[in-house]
Amino acid sequence: EAKRRGRNTWQTFTPALARKLTDRLLIETQLRRALDNQEFYLHYQPQVDLRTGRIHGAEALLRWKSRILGELNPDLFIPHAETTGDIVPIGAWVIQEACRQLRAWRDAGLAIDRIAVNVSFRQFLSDNLPETVLSALNQYKLPGEALEIEITERVLIEDAPDTLANFNTLKGLGVALVIDDFGEGYSALNYLRKFPFSGVKISHTFMQGVPFNASDSAICQAMIQIAKSVGLAVIAEGVEHEVQRAFLIKHGTVLGQGFLFSQAVSPREFAELVRQQRST
Ligand code: C2E
Ligand code: MG
Ligand code: MG
Ligand code: MG
Repeated sequence: EAKRRGRNTWQTFTPALARKLTDRLLIETQLRRALDNQEFYLHYQPQVDLRTGRIHGAEALLRWKSRILGELNPDLFIPHAETTGDIVPIGAWVIQEACRQLRAWRDAGLAIDRIAVNVSFRQFLSDNLPETVLSALNQYKLPGEALEIEITERVLIEDAPDTLANFNTLKGLGVALVIDDFGEGYSALNYLRKFPFSGVKISHTFMQGVPFNASDSAICQAMIQIAKSVGLAVIAEGVEHEVQRAFLIKHGTVLGQGFLFSQAVSPREFAELVRQQRST
């Protein structure tokens, strides 16, 4: 019996799996040191008024330059950081750093309404997200309205006991709560009534098919309508083409982000983009 199981185990332990395991261990080990080693930084993608192209704010996107592993895409390391729990201190750093940057921009005279940060479900499971947010706002003398928190539907699925209370506390600070990747998760729309969201971000996976794929276009249109009908703001992500911008404007979406306008850029480049539009 042991022998048979042993052999089966051996059979499933393929080189590819071994590779995956060592990758995982390597990534997780390096992740643990990355904060102390200051290997993280943020890039900022403009969020623009689709009609005019004017920059209204930015989404802060995490970047990791590991001494050992090189540049890693967030899709590659964030799931690991969520598994180990390292996303909690890393995510706190993101909030802190985004607030620091916004303060620096405002002090330099740049009119930037708001920074959006991505917050993992794991940060909601830990106990002090509102305190982390409040202390960053206080430290950099920013009103809650300067910050937007993007969460995915995963937060709602995990349904931590304090989720609703945390949402309400954040909302009470003036912080906007937005559902990221709207439509990609589970679609029990009653959560739109239950939680105090201010907006939804339509996933780029739907935007890809707009306007030539009929069902993607129909889904986008329906999502915009649902959001608007319950009083939520809509922001479209992954806007790559002029025809998509036209489609969104036609269906009443005001804000968007995507390669059509700009990819995520360094703080210096972002400031330059804002300065350029001021002089035009
Ligand atoms: P997301 O929050 O949905 O961010 C949008 C992603 O789409 C970003 O990828 C962005 O660079 C990319 N993107 C922007 N414009 C376009 C476009 O026109 N077309 C296409 N195809 N893609 C576009 P990125 O920076 O690689 O981030 C990937 C994901 O990693 C994010 O998706 C977010 O879920 C997560 N992430 C990034 N930063 C953080 C963070 O600080 N904390 C947490 N928890 N997650 C983060
Ligand atoms: Mg996001
Ligand atoms: Mg998204
Ligand atoms: Mg995403």
